[in-house]
Amino acid sequence: MIKTDMHMHTSFSADSDAPMEEMIKASIDKGLRHITFTEHLDEDFPPKYGLDFTFDIDEYFSKVNELKEKYKEKIEILHGIELGVMPHLTDSYNSLVDSYDFDFVIASSHLVDMQDPYYPQFWENNTFHEGCRKYFKTISDNINAFKNFDSYGHLDYIIRYGTDEKKISYLDYSDILDEILLLLINNNKALEINTAGYKYGLNAPNPSAEIITRYLELGGKLFTIGSDAHKPEHIAYDYVRLEAFLKMLGVKEYVYYTKRKPVTVPL
Ligand SMILES: [Zn+2]
Ligand SMILES: [Zn+2]
Repeated sequence: MIKTDMHMHTSFSADSDAPMEEMIKASIDKGLRHITFTEHLDEDFPPKYGLDFTFDIDEYFSKVNELKEKYKEKIEILHGIELGVMPHLTDSYNSLVDSYDFDFVIASSHLVDMQDPYYPQFWENNTFHEGCRKYFKTISDNINAFKNFDSYGHLDYIIRYGTDEKKISYLDYSDILDEILLLLINNNKALEINTAGYKYGLNAPNPSAEIITRYLELGGKLFTIGSDAHKPEHIAYDYVRLEAFLKMLGVKEYVYYTKRKPVTVPL
């Protein structure tokens, strides 16, 4: 069984109420060995959405350290962050990441042209296809600008929103997806497998089987696995299903990060 969950949120994130200790207890109950709290930091997130995705990082470190010590016999708790990246935030994020001893940094694209595709307004001005293409272009712009991360989060999660279709064909976006996957591979970055896709009824994690297969074909080897849980009950979401799915695709190992270095675990 997969024993790591490298993507979860607690009440340090604007969109979660979960106490950190409850997340730890649930992780232990599910038999996990390594977990990483990857709280949201999205600088310049548009105020119109009414959420402040910043948090007190010093307070976060002291809370994680306290609980890391308390539960050290039962589980390894790691320090992480999920950065909502945009090219103009590069300097700010570089100095922030270098100022703290993070074990793991996820870079994610949450905005396209300063709009959050989670909300229906984005889709009033974009067809599903246009929205997806713009989202992938945004990811490639973001990675070209900022490389101080370990794994790229939920690469195709745009398909969760905007339509009932909830899937795309790799072939319709192969040019831009290959560009993104090669950027990750050439910069030694992991591809995140995010099981919230199952929670959203996609019948697959994010990214989809086709994108994972293409990452492998292009020589990608680093996979991190996370549930993106914002509540205790979503930790290690659908991991039994995920393990069978990854084995079917020929994925043989995954990694977790400690001190920004990958540790390989056989699947
Ligand atoms: Zn995210
Ligand atoms: Zn997240």
